Amino acid sequence: MLFRTHIVFSLAVYFLLAYFLEMPFFVLGFVLFAMAFVDIDIKNSKFGNHWYFRPLQWMTKHRGVLHSLVACVFLSLAVGAISLWGGFGFFVGYVSHLFLDCLTRSGVKLFWPFNWKVRGFVKSGGIVEEVIFVLFLLGDIGLFVWGIIEIV
Ligand SMILES: [Zn+2]
Repeated sequence: MLFRTHIVFSLAVYFLLAYFLEMPFFVLGFVLFAMAFVDIDIKNSKFGNHWYFRPLQWMTKHRGVLHSLVACVFLSLAVGAISLWGGFGFFVGYVSHLFLDCLTRSGVKLFWPFNWKVRGFVKSGGIVEEVIFVLFLLGDIGLFVWGIIEIV
């Protein structure tokens, strides 16, 4: 999935959670950070193009261990040990990333170390992804405007 699709989707998840939960605003930062973090295992992702991620990329494969529930839970607990809300936001962003990647044809080894893949029918960067992107972009704008109307 494209970076922008991950952004609009994780924003929508955050907006929905913020509607039901009384959570501090900084949680959004952790949501977005985790959402972007998952793809540092690939060289040509938004953040993965930094040289200091190379050793990690040699060790892990793209959509390997970082794209798994094991890494998601372990890293979220680690962040949560420092800040509970931060860990929660990190978990939400991570899961939102994994969920979208599970819809793609190339799939995700969600239950790593098991090799079994969860996959869908969406082609990364294809027409279905564009539709998902536009829908969630409009949804985000709607939720944002609605949020402002509620405050005012
Ligand atoms: Zn990914």
